[in-house]
Amino acid sequence: MLKPPGLLFLGFAAALLAALHAGAFAAFFHFEAGFFLAALLLWQATGILGVSVGYHRLLNHRSFECPRPIKWVLLFLAGLAGQLGPIRWVRVHRFHHAHSDTDLDPHTPRRGFWFAHLAWLFQAGRRGNEPALQEPPADLLADPDCRFFERAYPFLFYGSLAAIGWGWGWAGFLWLGTFRLAVTLHSILSINSVGHVFGRRDFDLPDDSWNLRLWAAFTGGEALHNNHHAHPRSARFACRPWEPDAGWLAIRSLAALGLAWNVRYYDPVTGSLAILRPRPQSIPLPSPAGT
Ligand SMILES: [Zn+2]
Ligand SMILES: [Zn+2]
Repeated sequence: MLKPPGLLFLGFAAALLAALHAGAFAAFFHFEAGFFLAALLLWQATGILGVSVGYHRLLNHRSFECPRPIKWVLLFLAGLAGQLGPIRWVRVHRFHHAHSDTDLDPHTPRRGFWFAHLAWLFQAGRRGNEPALQEPPADLLADPDCRFFERAYPFLFYGSLAAIGWGWGWAGFLWLGTFRLAVTLHSILSINSVGHVFGRRDFDLPDDSWNLRLWAAFTGGEALHNNHHAHPRSARFACRPWEPDAGWLAIRSLAALGLAWNVRYYDPVTGSLAILRPRPQSIPLPSPAGT
């Protein structure tokens, strides 16, 4: 069982958050266009491929399957995004889906916008009425790749920051480290906060999820949150051709290259889940003659 974070850890996390925002602000005093563009690119690569495709659609919702090397790349990118290891991430997100916008939801805006956006990070698993939130997902615990990346997370995350500072100096660290991580953090947290407060509701659900089409263009499709809550198993969050969903484009591209199978997606025409590129069944070899 994963323990809820202790006070020492929470103090460390608060100090890190303060330093992160101070660094992101300081970056503007060391502006370099190349670093700025590279930070945006790294934000999109780690946020979309790592967190949205890897943690969210592959591990959390099992909406497609892929070869292990592809999974390693996705989990590596997610580790650079500063969103904790896969087991802790999925543990919270599955609980959110199971109890969306109820008292048990770890980050419902019904407890206040800023609670849903940031303050919940310091309370998840500490309220005492969420014992199930402390139970790690059994399927991920049984997965050696998830266990490895869960343990490797601190080395991967802090190691990548050290490498950035060593390779690109102070300005590179501020832009590619702190600024990029602050943008990544708030864009992902906005799905929990803004995505449960306003936008469009294309599906009438008991929870408060909304679609924000414009913001979906910057979050790899994650801001199509009402669509996602309506069909959580779907690898495709977009339900209309004009809804931006870069995470789905990435998965479709992998499937076209033969690097993703059993891709489950919501088909608005039939109103049900369909499967793209079913994994070919292994054909049993004919028995040798005489046996
Ligand atoms: Zn939600
Ligand atoms: Zn989800």
